[in-house]
Order: sequence, then structure tokens, then C-alpha cells
Amino acid sequence: MTSPNELRRLIRQTLEMYRGMGLEQIPHVAVPVDSPAAAPPRGGGREPAAPLNRPRAMPTGSNSLGSNSLGSNPSGAPWERPFKPGAGVAETPAVSPSSAPLASAEPAVLSPTPKVVRPAPTSLPVQATREERASALAVLQQGVVNCQRCPELASTRTKTVFGVGDPGAKILFLGEAPGADEDAQGEPFVGRAGQLLNDIITACRLKREEIYICNVLKCRPPGNRTPLEGECSNCREFLDGQLAAIDPEYIVCWGTTAAQNLLQTKQPIGKLRQQFFRQGRAKVVCTYHPSYLLRNPPAKKEVWEDMKFWRQEMGVDLSQGKKSGS
Ligand code: SF4
Repeated sequence: MTSPNELRRLIRQTLEMYRGMGLEQIPHVAVPVDSPAAAPPRGGGREPAAPLNRPRAMPTGSNSLGSNSLGSNPSGAPWERPFKPGAGVAETPAVSPSSAPLASAEPAVLSPTPKVVRPAPTSLPVQATREERASALAVLQQGVVNCQRCPELASTRTKTVFGVGDPGAKILFLGEAPGADEDAQGEPFVGRAGQLLNDIITACRLKREEIYICNVLKCRPPGNRTPLEGECSNCREFLDGQLAAIDPEYIVCWGTTAAQNLLQTKQPIGKLRQQFFRQGRAKVVCTYHPSYLLRNPPAKKEVWEDMKFWRQEMGVDLSQGKKSGS
């Protein structure tokens, strides 16, 4: 078993190696998951990935939560709650205009976009224990707490927001950046958007505790403005470290900033939905940010379609109201 000190040394060694190669960020890859290089799941005990080729859209006429069926709420999402569209927008955590869909969803394009931009990140050994992963994350988190790379963010933040969840999680949720509530509490996805995310998690038959949740940026941009490219670049090392330590099987990108930064693409979120990409060994899906849903409730229907698409890959058919796998 690799000791925590050895893991720290390996991570630092890897980072230094990449810097020595002249790279500012840890290399990673973003390719559609129908690549023949698809990796097996981590740890041996997890279920193999389901076949990747499937119809783009799942049936939209039913869901597992009877009274909240598509016929009884405007968005069709089972986590639909009675709230006024646009109410409380001022409290909404960071979602910039760039997090809104830039194009409407179109039939899945299985073309190779985004293209391969970097080699894969160096992850911990697949047999690494939860404790070893937690130890690697603790080293990274200490680096975030002390980080001053973005002078404006470092001088205005209340708390850094590193990430929460199971270090051994097979699912990682990636958001944009902390908002006011996150900045105050030091935890990602709290407040109204966080509550909506919790509802989505429940509708997906998951528990928040079994998911690792983090953002592209670990510090709040003042006024919840759009993260700058340089800030995302500065913080990428921490995100890559988290991905390497957790080595998830699935990553869900919530919003444009998360999707574009992780996949290193300029494609709008509407073009990235309803298909899988590869990041390390993880399969990546992209959908709209919960804060966007607070301002645009009809988009919940599309997110629900994305959740069904993703969970079907995990062997869970949300359309049928019963589990067929994990
Ligand atoms: S956003 Fe990331 S890189 Fe920038 S100061 Fe915060 S922790 Fe450092």
C-alpha cells in the first residue's frame, strides 16, 4: 500500500515533471467516449460500462416519481417544486451569462468534438484506498487555502471552496465557481441552487454523500462574475489534482464554464449535452447549471433528459421507475 507521504511525493513529482515539460497545467484528455481506448472501471468491484451507442434521447413520457410526471409539471423534471421563475435570482450562486445555454440542443453529434487536446492525467493507482485518496486531497486543499495566484479572488474571498464528498466516489460533479453562499460556508452547491441540485440527486436515486462535488474555481469571483480564463488556468492544477486523487468513473459538468474548462473546448453547452466524453478513465456528461434552471425552469426538462441519459449508462433506467443495475 502506498503511504500518504509517498502519494504526496508522487503527486508533486508528477506536477514538477509536467512543468519541466513546459506545460502550465497538468495534461489531460477530452475525447468522445466512443473511443476504442475506453478504460475499465476502477477498483474491480464496480460494474462495467454499458454499451455506449444508444439513441440520443430517452422516452420523455414518464418518470419514476408518479405524481410529478411530465404531464403534471411544466418542466417535466421530477424534482419540480413550486417556485416563481426568476424569484430570488439575487441569491443565486455564481452563474454568469456564459453558463446559460448558448445554443439549443440538437441531435447528438458523434463527431470527434471536442478534439483531443492533451494526454491523460496521472491518477493515483487504481488500488489506492479511500484514505490514500483523502490524504492526497488534504495536501491539495492546504495548497488552495494558501493560494494567492489570483490576487483579486484571494483578496476578496471569505473562504476557499475546495470540494466535498467521498474521496472514493465514482461520481464527481463539477460546477463553475463559488457563489455568495458557498463563499460564506466554504462548501460547493449550497443555497437555492444547491437545494435544487440535491433534488436532482434524489430524483436520480443517488445520495449527495456518495458524490464528490467541486468547482472549476475554488474562490468566488467578486459579484459572481464570469471566471476569467487566467483564473481557470491558475486553478486547473487543483482541479486536475482532485481528478487524479479521486479518479472518478463519471463526471457531470454543470454549466458552460465547467464543461468548457474540463473538456478544453469552446463548444456551447447545448452542443455538449447528450453525449459522453472521456476524461482520464471517467465518462463525462454535460448539462445546464442548477442556477440557470432557477432562472429558466423550462430547461429542467432538458436536464432531466440528460440525467436519464447519464444514469442509463450506469444501468439505472429513470424512465421505468426501477433499477436495472447499480
Ligand atoms: S481561484 Fe484557485 S488559483 Fe485562484 S486564488 Fe483561488 S485557489 Fe488560487
